[in-house]
Amino acid sequence: MKVVVIGGGWSGCASALTAKYAGADVTILEKTDMILGLGNVGGIMRNNGRYTAAEEIINLGAGELLEITDKASLHTKVNFPGHNHASLYDVTKVGPMMQNLLISKDINIMYMARVVDVNKDKGKIKGVYLATGEYIEGDIFIETTGSTGPMGNCLRYGNGCSMCILRCPSFGPRVSISKRAGIEDLLGQRGDESYGAFSGSCELCKESLSDEIVEKLNSEGVVILPVPKEDINMDKLKVKVCQQYALDEYAENIILLDTGYAKLMTTYYPIEKLRKVKGLERARYVDPYSGGKGNSIRYLSMAPRNNGMKVEGLDNLLCAGEKSGLFVGHTEAMATGSLAGHNSVRLALGIPLLELPHNTAIGDIISFANQMVKTPEGLKTRYTFAGADYFQRMKDLNLYTTDNEKIKERIERIGLLNIYKEKIV
Ligand SMILES: Cc1cc2nc3c(=O)[nH]c(=O)nc-3n(C[C@H](O)[C@H](O)[C@H](O)COP(=O)(O)OP(=O)(O)OC[C@H]3O[C@@H](n4cnc5c(N)ncnc54)[C@H](O)[C@@H]3O)c2cc1C
Repeated sequence: MKVVVIGGGWSGCASALTAKYAGADVTILEKTDMILGLGNVGGIMRNNGRYTAAEEIINLGAGELLEITDKASLHTKVNFPGHNHASLYDVTKVGPMMQNLLISKDINIMYMARVVDVNKDKGKIKGVYLATGEYIEGDIFIETTGSTGPMGNCLRYGNGCSMCILRCPSFGPRVSISKRAGIEDLLGQRGDESYGAFSGSCELCKESLSDEIVEKLNSEGVVILPVPKEDINMDKLKVKVCQQYALDEYAENIILLDTGYAKLMTTYYPIEKLRKVKGLERARYVDPYSGGKGNSIRYLSMAPRNNGMKVEGLDNLLCAGEKSGLFVGHTEAMATGSLAGHNSVRLALGIPLLELPHNTAIGDIISFANQMVKTPEGLKTRYTFAGADYFQRMKDLNLYTTDNEKIKERIERIGLLNIYKEKIV
């Protein structure tokens, strides 16, 4: 049985791993020359409700993913405005670590393999075409291409192309596979109903910051610098993808986190204003980010799906990560991806798909986001364990806890301990 995963971000890697555990032959098709997609930026894990979700992923049987991010963490138990007990992984280390894990599990990774079209017979995808003209067949396909559109979308909905980590000009634009297969995309909106959302952070070279800032970043993981009053821009909070960081503190201060680079927790920041701040006089963005002006635009293509992650209207396509809803985050991508991978084998065998129950944080966010995305208000919301409305819901439903034993008992009680490790074929 062959499972083809399209897109090698966190959700694609998680899908590949659990599809392999369940007994499939797995190939990942990745359009760039690097694994992990947006996992190569970011790095914040285990903040707020993500702690609970991470432990659920471990107990469901996909713990290798968290082993990587925990091992690559430069700082643990970090607190910063609105966020507690975060781990910050080194974004320069995780990609190769993940690649080694996938290879050790005998998962085939094809780089520079951009899917541009599908061959469909009735409701079933038979194979996909790569930009090179090559044709790849499979029994089940999982789309994990994220929601970042091509460069044209950054121009249309943002402040110019950000030259983000996915590097469209070099590797070609993202394609919505589900749309190529005839399923209309859902589009996320901003508060004012325009489409897309700015990524919520950019990255600065540590070498361009003052010694004092670098020392503090390296030892504590966080540096908070007040923004001069005349430069505070509250409006920018409304365009952020990451509603968990759309707090006043993030406009009133420059918040830097150590993720290998200095992660600047704002959508973009004009460089001449940035350089007015003490210690940032020489600040510059890491290539290829033009964080002084623009940023990547996301949430322009989600597939309608059920709670087992199968795309509605197609027999053999599943989806995960940003493609499967307005989910923000590495943990959210791992949580949805590991379920999609496991279910790919069930789908191939005609066994009912696994749906995680509501008394797990992962099960609840998957069904809650699905229900919400069908409403106009729901398209303006982002879903993350880390903050905003969904973290509040987690707390209200008593789903949030940092007690590892309690989380293990929760998964054990519903009979799903290490379910992803079970070989089905
Ligand atoms: C600047 C920034 C900072 C962030 N910071 C954090 C953070 O600190 N913590 C956190 O939890 N989250 C963070 N996020 C969000 C998080 O990175 C994403 O939500 C998550 O990683 C998305 O994973 P994904 O697998 O769904 O998609 P992606 O990571 O977008 O992966 C999609 C993959 O598919 C490939 N692909 C696309 N089209 C094709 C095609 N046609 N054929 C083949 N391959 C294709 C892409 O190259 C890419 O590798 C950040 C995001 C950004 C942009």
